[in-house]
Amino acid sequence: MKSISITTILILFVKILFSQTSSVLVETENFDEKGGWVVDQQFTSSMGSPYLLAHGMGEPVENAITTVDFPESGRYWFWVRTKDWVPTHPETPGTFKIIFDNKEYPETYGVNEDWQWIRSGRIKIGRSKTLKIELKDETGFEGRCDAIYFSKNKNDFPPVDLEEMTAWRKEKLGIPPPELQDEFDLVVIGGGLAGCGAAVAAARQGIKVALINDRPVLGGNASKEIRVHTLGLKVYNIVEELGTEHYPNGDSGAIAANDTIEMVVRGEENITVFPNTRAFTVHKKDNKITAVDCFHTHTHKEIRFEAPLFVDATGDGWIGYWAGAEVRMGREARDEFNESMAPEQPDNMTMGNTILWNSVEVEGETPRKFEEKPRTLGWKEVLWAMDVAKDYKAKRGEWFWEYGMLMNTIYDAEEIRDHMFRAIYGNWYNVKQDPENANLKLKWIAYVAGKRESRRIVGDYILKESDIVNHPDFEDGFVEEVREIDIHYPKGGKYDFLSYADFTRIERYKIPYRCFYSKDIDNLFMAGRCFSATHVGLGSPRVMHTTTQMGVVVGTAAVVCTENDCSPRDVYHSYLSEMKSRLDKMRIEEKTQMH
Ligand SMILES: Cc1cc2nc3c(=O)[nH]c(=O)nc-3n(C[C@H](O)[C@H](O)[C@H](O)COP(=O)(O)OP(=O)(O)OC[C@H]3O[C@@H](n4cnc5c(N)ncnc54)[C@H](O)[C@@H]3O)c2cc1C
Repeated sequence: MKSISITTILILFVKILFSQTSSVLVETENFDEKGGWVVDQQFTSSMGSPYLLAHGMGEPVENAITTVDFPESGRYWFWVRTKDWVPTHPETPGTFKIIFDNKEYPETYGVNEDWQWIRSGRIKIGRSKTLKIELKDETGFEGRCDAIYFSKNKNDFPPVDLEEMTAWRKEKLGIPPPELQDEFDLVVIGGGLAGCGAAVAAARQGIKVALINDRPVLGGNASKEIRVHTLGLKVYNIVEELGTEHYPNGDSGAIAANDTIEMVVRGEENITVFPNTRAFTVHKKDNKITAVDCFHTHTHKEIRFEAPLFVDATGDGWIGYWAGAEVRMGREARDEFNESMAPEQPDNMTMGNTILWNSVEVEGETPRKFEEKPRTLGWKEVLWAMDVAKDYKAKRGEWFWEYGMLMNTIYDAEEIRDHMFRAIYGNWYNVKQDPENANLKLKWIAYVAGKRESRRIVGDYILKESDIVNHPDFEDGFVEEVREIDIHYPKGGKYDFLSYADFTRIERYKIPYRCFYSKDIDNLFMAGRCFSATHVGLGSPRVMHTTTQMGVVVGTAAVVCTENDCSPRDVYHSYLSEMKSRLDKMRIEEKTQMH
């Protein structure tokens, strides 16, 4: 028999000791009242959890409040997981305090570099065994708090390693194994317009669909949280129903448009929508996905979706990636697909992320005498933002406020988003120094980034430059577009948060159905910007009428698969005429396909 080392015995002893320690983990995203704080789940894959963000555009937001039950009274040490989001600067933008049972704890949070558990001190839990906790934002400048951990043991440090921390969270929160959902014929992950298009097309043709989205609202980039208007050819009636007006990007017209999207999708009785639900892994048997596991972004409760067919409409190609499908990210070399717009050597560059924002003219005081300064002139000093914004001055954000092209738009997404915040706040400081802008006020700033490009899942066919430029008449060309190839590059010069677009006009072309199912995973479709294309190939069809068309096509193919008990690939080989006749019924008149 092997002898057990003293270290192993010690580790076991410490583990047993800590498992018996009274402790409570409080996830801020599950607070009873969020006040003015918002739940931000965007960076779960890189920092481990959704968190609460004080998104106040420079005005402190209302306290988030919750009441927590403790297993026993007594004194507890506590740790707060937070970060200073501009660690390179001595001035800290997003500070906050914690109030326990109406008494403010003296420590200031949000001042530590990177996400860390900060051990603060001790608090007493009385005989009621409850504690009221409030997060008090001090600045309105994007302070953030992930969780608060209480333990009677001073050395019960929470784990730092992400994988370990995930397992630890589950244990501390008492999360049971995933609850199996009702049976669905099709599970669509990602509630952007591609996912919505897939769900509606499938549901209308009679199959049961689960639509999973990690935000509270549907629409993805077209939602009221991001506010991009839709472009491209409509072709199918569902695209027309889900598309938006052509308001300026970032406009509040997106609020009504989002209501329409919700109404169209939720009006389908065959669709069950799962908002605030984030997929985090898949289960597989042979070459098929058998289930997708998700968690609720507030409660962390897990649910499992088993189904014969799945659609990856996450934009980031998460489902394909977890299932081990071949994915691409970055730019192909010119000679790989003979693309004149590709670089000579392959690299990791993608198009970047954007935070849209705008301002509004408010009625205000006018200076009584010429030399008198109105009180509404000037703004808070945001020294931590100025080295990004420099002297830039604009009254609203535009598509070309774009950053992260040379970073990883998935794993560096928090840094990219925060860089845009600095550009916006620093720019606003500059704008407000100008007497002409005395009555301008920040109206809205997104905190959910609009993404353009990340992973692309490889299908049986990869759409490339020549398919768009030479527009061959693919027999399975069910998605059509006429929009330019539009590829973005960093603008260069002193403002690193700006981009420019390189447009190449083209004629109407078709995208083959074979770009919409994985070549490796037998029951996985993809729709939206993670479909099978090269970097250049994505340049035209990444707009949302086109991605909704992709949804309509895969939703329809899922119906064909269900009715004929076949795979997405079989649809190409054996059921193209059935696909065509189904899709033809949804086609709208040629003259209404354009805006
Ligand atoms: C600033 C900007 C301007 C643009 N301009 C235009 C324009 O004028 N017109 C136009 O049509 N297009 C425009 N585009 C491009 C277009 O918006 C995107 O290509 C488009 O969003 C693609 O749609 P999608 O459905 O594939 O992805 P998305 O809209 O990104 O939707 C993906 C959805 O999946 C969810 N999700 C992601 N991961 C998970 C997960 N693990 N579990 C559950 N849900 C998940 C996301 O929260 C999101 O709701 C622009 C993009 C940007 C950023």
